Amino acid sequence: MTVPPGSTIGIIGGGQLGRMLCVAAAQLGYRCHIFDPHEAPPAADVAAFFTRAQFTDTAALERFAAAVDVATYEFENLPVEPLTMIGDRLRPGLTSLAVAQDRADEKSFIESTGARVAPWRPVASFDDVADALAELGTPLVLKTRRYGYDGKGQAWIRSAAEAEIAWRQIGAEPAVAEAAVEFAAEFSVIVARWADGRHEVWDSPENEHSEGILRRSTVPCGAVVAGQVAEARAAALGIAEALGHVGVLTVEFFAGASGPVVNEIAPRVHNSGHWTIEGAVTSQFEQHIRAICGLPPGVTGLVGRAAVMDNLIGDEVDRWADLVAQAGAHVHIYGKGQAHPGRKMGHVTWVSV
Ligand code: AMP
Repeated sequence: MTVPPGSTIGIIGGGQLGRMLCVAAAQLGYRCHIFDPHEAPPAADVAAFFTRAQFTDTAALERFAAAVDVATYEFENLPVEPLTMIGDRLRPGLTSLAVAQDRADEKSFIESTGARVAPWRPVASFDDVADALAELGTPLVLKTRRYGYDGKGQAWIRSAAEAEIAWRQIGAEPAVAEAAVEFAAEFSVIVARWADGRHEVWDSPENEHSEGILRRSTVPCGAVVAGQVAEARAAALGIAEALGHVGVLTVEFFAGASGPVVNEIAPRVHNSGHWTIEGAVTSQFEQHIRAICGLPPGVTGLVGRAAVMDNLIGDEVDRWADLVAQAGAHVHIYGKGQAHPGRKMGHVTWVSV
C-alpha cells in the first residue's frame, strides 16, 4: 500500500532521530505527528502535530492511531502491547521492536539467522554471573537486558574480584554476560527494506566510540572493515528478512579476527547513518520514509569521495559558532536545551568532493 505525500506519518518518540525524520518527511510533502511524553521534545519543533502522553496511555495512543496514516518509532524502549492497536500500519512491525529491546532475545534471534555474536550467557542472579565467568572468562561485560543505550546499563568485569561490584553497578537486573571481542574496528550496516523484500544498503561507516558513545563515523571505511562488509551485509539482510522488517534497520558490528561479529541491532535510523544526510544521494531518514510509505527506493551512493560525521556531545555543542564558520561544515543542532555530559546535542558532517 502506498501512503502518498499529503498523508500524516506518526512517529513514536520525539528525539533527534524523530526530528530528522520529520525534516525528511516534510521535504516529500508529508506531515508528521510526534507522540512523546516530554514537554518539548526536539522533534515537536519541526512536526505538524504533537501528542504529549505516556507510551502506556492507551486512550492517547488510540487517538494518535486514528489521526495518522502510517506510524513508525524512533526509539526502541517502548511498551509493545499498547502498540498492537496500530496493526500493520506500524512500520517496522512489533517483531522488530520486541526483538531489539531485549538483549538476550536479540542475541538468540541473531544467532538463529546464522550471524555471529560474541559468546554470551543470560544472567538473572549473581550465581549466574559466577557461572558465566567460569565459562567465558575475563574480560566479560554485563549488559542489562532492557533499557540500555550509549553504554548505560553496562559494567565490565576485568578480574573475578570485580564481578560482584559489576553486578551491583548494573542494578542486579536480568542481563547478558558477554565475552570481550577483540576487534580491529567497529562498523555498521544500515539497510532499508521494503514490505515486498526490496532493500538498499549504504556504504558501511567505520565507527569510533568512547565510553560506549559513538564519537565519529567515517566513510569509506578502512581496509580491514572493507574486507568484512560483504559478509556483514549478508548477515544484516538475513536479520532484516527474518524480522520481516520494513524501514531502516541498523546492525552494528565488530571487525573480529575471524570475521564480522554482530554487537547489536537497532530497528531504526541510527547515529552512524547521520552522514547520509549530506554524504549520500538519499539519506537514511528519507529512505526510511520511502520504505514505510511504499515509495520507490532512493539511490544510496556517496555524493563525494568521503564523509566524516562527528557527534557534538555535552558542552561540545558550545563550539557551534566556530563550526558554522568552517567552510563545508554541515552543523546539526538538536534543540535539546540543557547540555549534560554524555548527552548527544548535535553533530557535524564534512563531505569531501
Ligand atoms: P553497546 O551499547 O552494546 O553498543 O556497547 C557500546 C560500546 O562498548 C561498543 O560500541 C564497543 O565499543 C564496546 N563493547 C560493547 N560490547 C563489547 C564486547 N563484547 N567486546 C568489546 N567491546 C564491547
